[in-house]
Amino acid sequence: MGVRELMDRLDWGPAPESDELAKALLAERGRDNGMYIDGRWVQPRRGERFDTVNPATGEVLGTIGQADSHEIDLAVAAARHAQPAWEALSGHDRARHLYAIGRAVQRNSRILAVLETMDNGKPIRETRDIDIPLVARHFIHHAGWAQLLDETMPNQKPWGVCGQIIPWNFPLLMLAWKVAPALAAGNTIVIKPAESTSLTALAFAALCHDAGLPRGVLNIVTGDGKTGALIVEHDDIDKIAFTGSTAVGRVIRKATAGSGKGLTLELGGKSPFIVFEDADVESAIEGLVDAIWFNQGQVCCAGSRLLVQESIAEPFYERLRERMAALRVGNPLDKAVDMGAIIDANQLTTIEKLCETGVEEGGTLWQPNIEMPETGNFFPPTLFTDVSPASTVVQEEIFGPVLVSMTFRSPGEAVSLANNTKFGLAGSVWSQDIDTALEVARRIKAGVIWVNCTNRFDANAGFGGYRESGFGREGGHEGMSAYLRPPRTTESELTESKENDANEIDEEGYAVIGVREPTTVLTGIDRTAKMFIGGVQKRPDGGNSLTVMGPSGRIDEVGRGNRKDIRNAVEAAIGRCKWPNMNGHQRAQVLYYIGENLEARRNEFIHRLVKMTGLSDASAETEFDDSVEQWFRWAAWADKYDGRVHETNSRALVIAVNEPIGVVGVIASDSRPLAGFVRLVAPLLAMGNTVVAIPSEAHPLVATDLYQVLETSDLPNGALNIITGLRADLIEPLAAHDAVDAIWVASDDITLAQTMSAGNMKRTWDANPDASDIERLRQSSQVKNIWLPHAI
Ligand code: NDP
Repeated sequence: MGVRELMDRLDWGPAPESDELAKALLAERGRDNGMYIDGRWVQPRRGERFDTVNPATGEVLGTIGQADSHEIDLAVAAARHAQPAWEALSGHDRARHLYAIGRAVQRNSRILAVLETMDNGKPIRETRDIDIPLVARHFIHHAGWAQLLDETMPNQKPWGVCGQIIPWNFPLLMLAWKVAPALAAGNTIVIKPAESTSLTALAFAALCHDAGLPRGVLNIVTGDGKTGALIVEHDDIDKIAFTGSTAVGRVIRKATAGSGKGLTLELGGKSPFIVFEDADVESAIEGLVDAIWFNQGQVCCAGSRLLVQESIAEPFYERLRERMAALRVGNPLDKAVDMGAIIDANQLTTIEKLCETGVEEGGTLWQPNIEMPETGNFFPPTLFTDVSPASTVVQEEIFGPVLVSMTFRSPGEAVSLANNTKFGLAGSVWSQDIDTALEVARRIKAGVIWVNCTNRFDANAGFGGYRESGFGREGGHEGMSAYLRPPRTTESELTESKENDANEIDEEGYAVIGVREPTTVLTGIDRTAKMFIGGVQKRPDGGNSLTVMGPSGRIDEVGRGNRKDIRNAVEAAIGRCKWPNMNGHQRAQVLYYIGENLEARRNEFIHRLVKMTGLSDASAETEFDDSVEQWFRWAAWADKYDGRVHETNSRALVIAVNEPIGVVGVIASDSRPLAGFVRLVAPLLAMGNTVVAIPSEAHPLVATDLYQVLETSDLPNGALNIITGLRADLIEPLAAHDAVDAIWVASDDITLAQTMSAGNMKRTWDANPDASDIERLRQSSQVKNIWLPHAI
């Protein structure tokens, strides 16, 4: 009898983990859990509570308090009060606190794992071996960042008070991802766990309390989405960090628009899992088990879209079905169980309905004939084939153990299918050919790519999405940056925003000439400076122009752009533009050449600046010289903003690459119409983005004079597109455009731009004129972490 046959005959016996200690802890805490505010346990003032239930058994584990505005006010006030002292501690002292928390988690790891499994329904194998060890790793790793912050990220400040909202799928791990970097950076916290999974967060609060964390530094409030909304809208919170659905992320983007709050969003996904014909099939099959049946598929980065090369599809599916039939679904406290319970009945219904839709749309659903528990929220491992790229089950995040599969023929087709989604959180590529694996890894639009592995996480590797999967990173250097900001340069910010508000000479010497509402004239279109779209000067679609006024009266006409001009410009920026595919050296040469050609027209530009703005000759020369220097500066950066290689706790090289964001909309202010404009567009170009820019409304002519410089400098068509006109006409179509990936706003229009950007969750930057080069580079790029495992 062969080993295989012997293995087939072996049955798994029950191997239950004891829940005795966790139950004793719950009994000791009492049935009605309080919240942890200002170092004390607080019951909700209104006495509103709800049950928290074990999803595998239906047993009520206790009740949770529903925080209303009273508790949120208390928590925010406590965090505000505690923040200066926490920030003032030395990095070493904060490190000691974080280390103590990490050690407390390690000492209590078994009870936390059991409690997590009871509250969430995920297998003990996962909570014991993945969630809780990673929680401890996060705190110990971030103790290191606290210790080294002054050296590694100098001249940065914490945001202040952070509001954090987390989901139910990795309750304590998501808390650790948010709390550890925030505390390391010197922020204080108000955090809300998900309604259905608050128990480990509250146990964690007790551990922090016992570990001597100062009062008010960490506040844990419980409640449902209404409590989350109160945190988001609270005036005295400086930064919001959210993980959850894209729908709620969109609500939060709108609610925080223009508030000046920092925002990071880690949202949904529909990540591709691509298997090439030369892949190690057995490894890929085991990879799939981890990709989509880990945590019952309730994972934002789950490899939920299987793409298999056509030549191996049938045998691969056969082997996959065999493996699925060997999965064990059941009591999550059983150590030999592969899949536990779905979080609650609502989520179970959502999964069931999406599967019904998949079948109605023509998909073939396959589920193994395995033993399923008779009670509790369980759903079997499921495979969909015969689906098309547009099928609902292929496009929507199911958030359950449901794998949808399609085939492809070539690497190009695999990439197109992989990118055919609104999301961009992660992807997994399986091939023994390093050329194929790396090429595909670079071409997938997602924040994390696993080569020949999947669902690997580490405290030192950034995690976060492209596109509608959100923005910001958690983990490592990238994650730390999200909890720090440059010091507020209030003086210069005030000067910049007040410029041009009065009809006088401002501090920088610009005549403020009241062109905010320019005279619209419908004549003389031939004398009008045009738009610059796709490398060609184009008349405005509406045929309208605006009069540009200087201190001595009318200077010239400029095209008044409209929605259609913006659309054409975005089209040109996403079209066949060569710019994103040019390497850093090639981009640098073009940017140097622009500087060189601009310098050749020195007198003409200085004259224009003087005439248009009323600057003195000397000031105009300074601005011009700065503009030329900026082109050189960003040419210099074009091939120097390197990524990193992260050290992680698994055997893998994790390569963090800085990639362009895509198409970026730029809204310039009226301040420094030439140099200010160049400071916005040049860094974006340096990093390989294409740009649609709205130059100064009051002084647009130096930007339109640039067209000829750009035309003679080998800048590929479509790399930089310039639309003149009124910001009131142009911001909305630009910020709402779904093909625009990010928006930089230097004018006072950030609220409108951020509100309109919520459609495709584009990144926004309230472009600070004093921002450092590194900040500009960070805002010009997004990090992709590529995991390359190896044997030693
Ligand atoms: P949500 O996005 O609704 O919840 C995430 C967190 O946000 C929870 O703490 C929730 O509170 C809170 N919340 C809900 N509404 C608001 C609001 N208006 N303002 C502020 N906070 C709010 O996810 P769900 O738990 O409802 O899951 C729904 C779907 O979201 C899933 O089916 C899945 O597709 C996706 N999802 C994605 C996750 C990811 O990591 N990408 C994680 C979880 C879900 P409460 O739990 O109390 O309602």
